[in-house]
Amino acid sequence: MAAQAPTLNPFENATRQLEKAAKILNLDKNTLEVLSKPKLVVEVSLPVKMDDGTVKVFTGYRSQYNDARGPYKGGIRFHPNVTRDEVVALSAWMTWKCATVDIPFGGGKGGVICNPKDMSMGEQERLVRRYAAAITPFVGVQKDIPAPDVYTTPQHMAWFMDTYSQITGQRTPHVITGKPVEVGGSLGRSNSTSRGALFVAREALKIKKIKNPTIVIQGFGNAGENCALLAKEVLGGTPKVIAVSDSKGGIYNQDGLDPEAVQKHKAKTGSVVGFKGAKSISNEEILELPCDLLIPAALENQITKENAPRIKAKVISEAANGPTTPEADEILYKNGVTVIPDILANAGGVTVSYFEWVQGFNWYPWSLEEVNGRLEQKMVKAFHDVYNFSSDKKVHMRTGAYCLAVERVAKALELQGLWP
Ligand code: GLU
Repeated sequence: MAAQAPTLNPFENATRQLEKAAKILNLDKNTLEVLSKPKLVVEVSLPVKMDDGTVKVFTGYRSQYNDARGPYKGGIRFHPNVTRDEVVALSAWMTWKCATVDIPFGGGKGGVICNPKDMSMGEQERLVRRYAAAITPFVGVQKDIPAPDVYTTPQHMAWFMDTYSQITGQRTPHVITGKPVEVGGSLGRSNSTSRGALFVAREALKIKKIKNPTIVIQGFGNAGENCALLAKEVLGGTPKVIAVSDSKGGIYNQDGLDPEAVQKHKAKTGSVVGFKGAKSISNEEILELPCDLLIPAALENQITKENAPRIKAKVISEAANGPTTPEADEILYKNGVTVIPDILANAGGVTVSYFEWVQGFNWYPWSLEEVNGRLEQKMVKAFHDVYNFSSDKKVHMRTGAYCLAVERVAKALELQGLWP
């Protein structure tokens, strides 16, 4: 994850992106009014017994933004910088994301203000279970289905699922996705966000006639790490990952890093920093390196109007949510950088979550080939839908993706009407 805390209000960004699309679509004012606000946001206090015997009360949220197209869907973030506005913004982005790749879900998101890196496994388990219990009345297989996000893991999902199942008295694996395969998770879910981000990057690189790209990745959590590991398999040829970073700093080698060796180093030391045979580089500098493909895979607001003019990447595939501010978008567009927006680029995660939910409903697991094949179809189609729309309308891809997504959600809303 990147070191920087978000400095801009992500919900303001989300709203500005929505308003821009609404203008182009000539969206009905009343529909825009409804789409500008979350339907429900819950805040919960979570008392947890810590290992030293003290009790600490954590604050958690679940935001349910819109369910016109299907049950709310979105991850749970555990991070010290979680705020209510961030969770709401992330739930809005989930709404547009699910609509962009055309899966039958609305948008939700959860968050707990905490740092799991400073907590024992026992403390994490008690926190997850308490959070699960607190939001059990609000979630459900046809209501709201959580998943992992920043700093949450398949193990956390298993505890959540077990808690929900114990409380409701029914084994309910599909109340949450991103679970370990042994308890109803889907094959291919753990690296699906990265696989999806690479599928769409591959399509953009093809259009730009770039072969064997140099790649820079900011963030070495689940998304960043798997982008590095899967680059060769998904992009083909001989792509070169030249720099990666995490919250402690970055590493850079123009001749290419060995992703597996970096992964091992991180597993051993807790960071990519100190990897032999690479120069050190900061999280800010890494974004400005000359490269063909830049993958922001950390937190929000990393590419801003300050550093956007210095970005030299030809294609950006946003594995993170909200890494680019609206001002930076304009600058990148003018400079000819192809930005594949988060709501498209990182939709592979929720797409395989959707597959996991379907498999759960049917109690019938799919093969890895089936999961990856269907993911590729979804991502490639969504990429070209967005790309063609954006080229026709002469707008950047983020605006194109928003237009397609908002139109789909608006249509679903209008068809169902306003009740009562
Ligand atoms: N947290 C991921 C996202 O932001 C996955 C959400 C999900 O699978 O529901 O897209």
